[in-house]
Amino acid sequence: MQYYSTNGKAPIADLQKAVVKGLAEDKGLYMPDHINTLPKAFFDNIQDMSFQDIAYNVASAFFGDDVDLDALQDIVYDTLSFDCPVAPVTDNIYSLELFHGPTLAFKDVGARFMARLLRYYLAKQSAASDAPSAKGQVNVLVATSGDTGSAVANGFLGVDGIHVYVLYPKGKVSPIQECQFTTLGKNITAVEVDGVFDDCQALVKAAFMDEELNSHMRLTSANSINVARFLPQAFYYFNAYARLKKQWMTTAPSALFPELVICTPSGNFGNICAGLFAKRMGLPVKRFIAANNANSVFYEYLQTGQYRPRPSVQTIANAMDVGDPSNFARIYTLYNQDWNAIRNDITGATYTDQQIADTMRQVYQQTGYVCDPHGACGYRALSERLLPGEVGVFLETAHPAKFKQTVDGILSSDIEIPAKLQAFMQGEKKSVPMTKHFADFKNYLMHQ
Ligand SMILES: *Cc1c(COP(=O)(O)O)cnc(C)c1O
Repeated sequence: MQYYSTNGKAPIADLQKAVVKGLAEDKGLYMPDHINTLPKAFFDNIQDMSFQDIAYNVASAFFGDDVDLDALQDIVYDTLSFDCPVAPVTDNIYSLELFHGPTLAFKDVGARFMARLLRYYLAKQSAASDAPSAKGQVNVLVATSGDTGSAVANGFLGVDGIHVYVLYPKGKVSPIQECQFTTLGKNITAVEVDGVFDDCQALVKAAFMDEELNSHMRLTSANSINVARFLPQAFYYFNAYARLKKQWMTTAPSALFPELVICTPSGNFGNICAGLFAKRMGLPVKRFIAANNANSVFYEYLQTGQYRPRPSVQTIANAMDVGDPSNFARIYTLYNQDWNAIRNDITGATYTDQQIADTMRQVYQQTGYVCDPHGACGYRALSERLLPGEVGVFLETAHPAKFKQTVDGILSSDIEIPAKLQAFMQGEKKSVPMTKHFADFKNYLMHQ
């Protein structure tokens, strides 16, 4: 499979280059030059397959030409050692729980898959070349406002040949988030920047541009624009269909399977973009809904045809506080820049903090289900937009305990913290203090 840039001005790349480089030379995002569809037999039997086997089939269609199938199977099985169930919330709305991975959020899958695929390619490079540049450790730099850092750090934890530096803004991530990347040790270094998230991102960008630094150490990014991080999220959508179909065949064997609507709480639009790819591969989804918080740039694009990025505003669904979604370029390219074609497959929704909180309370009181603030946007959009004969699945993107303070404040609850999270909280915090000045960060890296 070959990968081209959404900006159309960079050379075609193979998967290895797309994964190792992340972003194309013209700053565009890599897109596969074709999308394989899956055979009818796969969809006929999908309800009896495990999450791992479904994912392996999907991964083979994308990566099977480029990665040895045995290795690919290892990568997929290692990535998906947990479940991804659908829980009924109302008669026709289901929650697809993406929070059963190591850090209890959906980014775990993309991060782990990317770590393993990168490791695969580094091993190949070093076997194929005697040059010192093909041998040294690779250093992943990632800036985080909370969730990305924990997923990337845990995904790369213990993967040899790769060291991860997580840059995060001092005092601006929740204690639960912070402990998920500051207590790991091993090949993970947390860098606590005296600044805001944008300062962290600026340091990472400056590091990639700095020639002296790049000749001192091999640097790469684990940003969500990487094809190895966003495409594996397609696994979730196939699994949603499989689990729902199974339930349907058990409870209503004679009834026709209803039309499926999937709603994805969206920020950078990587997750929903993977869903759109799943549809291109043949997954029978009637339509998608992109649920936004108050950061409604994509919603407005759907209404007006004008894409007008702007600075993000802070909300209680903070992993979606994005004012210029990076995967917009991918969606735009996937639909040949055709606004109407995009609107045929995706509608939008946008909710204020007040609406999110009201929804969380309402769902909890009426059904007992605890939504986190991101999932609540998804639930609400389905409850407002679902038509007769449709069944809806929203992606519950994080465990509510990751946002315990917010959730308890809204629901007057005291939700339990899962054992996995508690284990992080008992670890010892270690981080490297850093100013927001690049000279200091560079000096630190030059001595590593
Ligand atoms: C990252 C994240 C999102 C947004 O996903 P995108 O792929 O950026 O659209 C939604 N919810 C949670 C909990 C997240 O961590």
